[in-house]
Amino acid sequence: MGTLLEQTHAPRAESPTIQLDAIVIGTGIAGLYQLYRLREMGLQVRAYDTASGVGGTWYWNRYPGARFDSQVEVYQYWFSEELYKAWKPSERFPAQPETERWLNFVADRLDLKKDIQFNTRIVSAHYRENDGRWTVTTEVGEKIDTQFVLACCGMLSAPLVDRFPGQSTFRGEIHHTGLWPKNGVELKGKRVAVIGTGATGIQVIQTIAPDVAAMKIFVRTPQYVVPMKNPEYSQADWDRWASQFHDLKKRVRSTFAGFHYDFENRPWAELTAEQRTEVLEKFWDDGSLSMWLATFPEMFFDESVSAVVSDFVRNKMRKRLRHDPKLCRLLIPEDYGFGTHRVPLENKYLEVYLRDNVEGIDCRATPIERIVPEVRRHPDLGRQGARGRRYHPCGRLRRRIWRAEPNRHPRSRRPLVEGSMEEGDSHRNGPPGARLPKFVHDRRTARTFGGTLQHDNLSAAAGRLDHRLHRLRANAGQAHGRGHPGVRRQLGEAP
Ligand SMILES: Cc1cc2nc3c(=O)[nH]c(=O)nc-3n(C[C@H](O)[C@H](O)[C@H](O)COP(=O)(O)OP(=O)(O)OC[C@H]3O[C@@H](n4cnc5c(N)ncnc54)[C@H](O)[C@@H]3O)c2cc1C
Repeated sequence: MGTLLEQTHAPRAESPTIQLDAIVIGTGIAGLYQLYRLREMGLQVRAYDTASGVGGTWYWNRYPGARFDSQVEVYQYWFSEELYKAWKPSERFPAQPETERWLNFVADRLDLKKDIQFNTRIVSAHYRENDGRWTVTTEVGEKIDTQFVLACCGMLSAPLVDRFPGQSTFRGEIHHTGLWPKNGVELKGKRVAVIGTGATGIQVIQTIAPDVAAMKIFVRTPQYVVPMKNPEYSQADWDRWASQFHDLKKRVRSTFAGFHYDFENRPWAELTAEQRTEVLEKFWDDGSLSMWLATFPEMFFDESVSAVVSDFVRNKMRKRLRHDPKLCRLLIPEDYGFGTHRVPLENKYLEVYLRDNVEGIDCRATPIERIVPEVRRHPDLGRQGARGRRYHPCGRLRRRIWRAEPNRHPRSRRPLVEGSMEEGDSHRNGPPGARLPKFVHDRRTARTFGGTLQHDNLSAAAGRLDHRLHRLRANAGQAHGRGHPGVRRQLGEAP
């Protein structure tokens, strides 16, 4: 696995300091506009971006299923009516390739690229008190002397690339959605794990599920989700939006979220239960973020309102999950209210978990501990559960450990154990009724079993430990006698 970060261009020979009035860092939506405005003001300005093209978010996020959650008629530049009318989006929530094309269209139309230096990372900017100017340095040592620095670096443009211990040792491929390769990634027929179920994870999961051989989804924070309705836009649709340009421009500046809808229903307190449900159903059917940002603002301030709205969404989700208690526990939020997190729009995301090739793993119960170099198959892993679904065996290990050490709660977030597992190990190999000994909790002792433990191999590791315990007991009897202090310590019997 190579580096997850795109390389900027090679070092140049010592070059003279570049003199500018202003520099713009980043050429996403914000940077392009700033470059345009500053140039219009007659300033000597240049924009820099680590990327090799414009678009920012819409340049980097090429992952399968990447698309808007905002409606295209409002995710727009409002400074130019001509620009607004010249681009004809194909659907209500366009996908990444179309959005990247749109931003290239904007950059070309405004002739911005001649003032952009791509493949260049800005690494420092120092303000000089003596003359009120900045010294800016690029990664390859170029120096820029400028009066103004406009940081349009984006709020989501710095990916977390080294998140898990052992990640760099993994022998398979690891891809970050925010650094998705331009040539794509072949996932068809592969075994894939997806870590994260925010708006991006959801888009990836629902898109690749039909193609991959098997998918494990690591779910830590379940999300309230709203099904997206994404009709195609015809020329007539766009003519209609274009004819409303001035109204829309005024409107988006006055609404709560900058969209063309707003909280305009009668106050919650004035409505009957039936009327409230009617409003919620109407916005649910709209298939947009209006369910979040145009229903009842009271849900953000009043717990009782939040409870009713959250339950409305939970019920919709339960139905789609066919009331499967395990999936509902895994995927339906219970500890925060609807709308207090960014609400993802989705397309058959929940139904993915009903597929035979998909297994959801509860990372709140069993947090990811580390990534090991290679995946080993194990007969005890992911055995077929009810209705042919695979289930995760960690819960059993937790319960067994808890029995052996009752002071420790089974949902403790502390990593349980490190150890190795081998092909063919199984808890069934241990003697019937064998209980996990205390030393399992001592990480130093556990390491004597060597290697590291994969998140989803806990049950197998338990089996291996049981098996070793069995052998230790047998050896203790034969070679040393049960009184040997070393053996008794390992058996958890010595103080
Ligand atoms: C997958 C995804 C979907 C989204 N969908 C929506 C949506 O539907 N609606 C919505 O309103 N918002 C959405 N967003 C938020 C989105 O980030 C913003 O809408 C918007 O695109 C941000 O634009 P920006 O110009 O501020 O930053 P960005 O688009 O992030 O651009 C920042 C640029 O700065 C560059 N940069 C950063 N640091 C440096 C440096 N040191 N040197 C050189 N270059 C640097 C980066 O390479 C990047 O190209 C989404 C975000 C993501 C990730």
